[in-house]
Amino acid sequence: MLRTDMPNNRQWRLAARPTGLPTDSVWQWTETSIAEPAEGEVQVRVHYISLDPAMRGWMNDGKSYLPPVPLGDVMRAGGLGEVVASRHPAFAPGDWVTGMTGVQDYVNVAPGGPRGMAKIDPGIKPVTVWLSALGMVGMTAYFGLLDICSPKEGETVVVSAAAGAVGSLVGQIARIKGCRVIGIAGGPEKCRYIVEQCGFDAAIDYKTEDVRAALEKHCPKGIDVYFDNVGGSILEAVLANLALKARISICGAISQYNATDGMVGPRNYMSLLVSRARMEGFLVMDYGKRFPEAIQEMAGWLRAGKLKSREDVHQGLENFPTVFLKLFRGDNAGKLLLKITE
Ligand code: NAP
Repeated sequence: MLRTDMPNNRQWRLAARPTGLPTDSVWQWTETSIAEPAEGEVQVRVHYISLDPAMRGWMNDGKSYLPPVPLGDVMRAGGLGEVVASRHPAFAPGDWVTGMTGVQDYVNVAPGGPRGMAKIDPGIKPVTVWLSALGMVGMTAYFGLLDICSPKEGETVVVSAAAGAVGSLVGQIARIKGCRVIGIAGGPEKCRYIVEQCGFDAAIDYKTEDVRAALEKHCPKGIDVYFDNVGGSILEAVLANLALKARISICGAISQYNATDGMVGPRNYMSLLVSRARMEGFLVMDYGKRFPEAIQEMAGWLRAGKLKSREDVHQGLENFPTVFLKLFRGDNAGKLLLKITE
């Protein structure tokens, strides 16, 4: 039954599949009434929407780890909100939750289903940390570095998109583990941030420096671990500087997500053979069962001041199409979020 006691549910839907950067024409704004939650569902008032590079991939047609967002559907996105009605025994109004909310004000969702919905502790402040260091990006940094690459004390770790949500956490975790950390980021401000605020040993500005030469300079014994967020030519520069038995975590390839004439792959992949190295992709969602152990450890590091979580919060659901593009222009300073309540 439709709820007449509630404001309209404002939503952004995917109207067309983008070529290159998503323009305004791929989105459709709708406002509808929201139904009562069904048996086993909760109704969530969404407060924050997580803007993630992966959303660009979900807009494409074709085979991937999740089905494409169907045209006409509310855009898929993670979010954080408050339960306002519940027909699920384990949830009550007032509970705070995270899960796949979509780009909209309200969602009815069955906890435990494919869209998740886990309770969070709103006492940990700011609450947005649950979409950052204690959320998907934190889990990505934690497992993508520690599980895939097993960094050891004294090793040299390189990370790209190093001032971003995942990258800045990866570098800090590697420092906690006693590694030397080199970050690759765009622009002097981001390079200063990762060295001065996040404790990286050095930064390379890929927009003004020759990355391959800079890596050679900063990693004279070669790179033991590379956490790849960007792919493309930066991945090639890293491959040219590997240490023996190096490990590479393929987390993402944001430099290629809006490519219109095919992806730039690593032409020099034979350096994996020369260095007896390993390159492995991973998906954070495969680690779901182990999130509690990672959250506990990350929360401890946050409390101890060993880890900084930086969130870049923008206001207004109506601004979603433009704010989303910040990810691909490097205009975000930390985890990009949209606050959609006052
Ligand atoms: P983010 O790093 O906070 O934001 C994206 C950053 O990418 C931008 O700020 C920009 O930083 C950089 N960038 C954009 N275009 C670029 C280009 N052409 N070349 C080089 N750098 C570019 O985003 P995030 O959420 O933390 O995601 C980082 C990566 O992790 C993405 O590849 C994402 O797909 C991946 N990811 C993977 C998983 C998984 O399960 N495997 C889960 C979450 C995220 P600069 O200003 O430094 O260029």
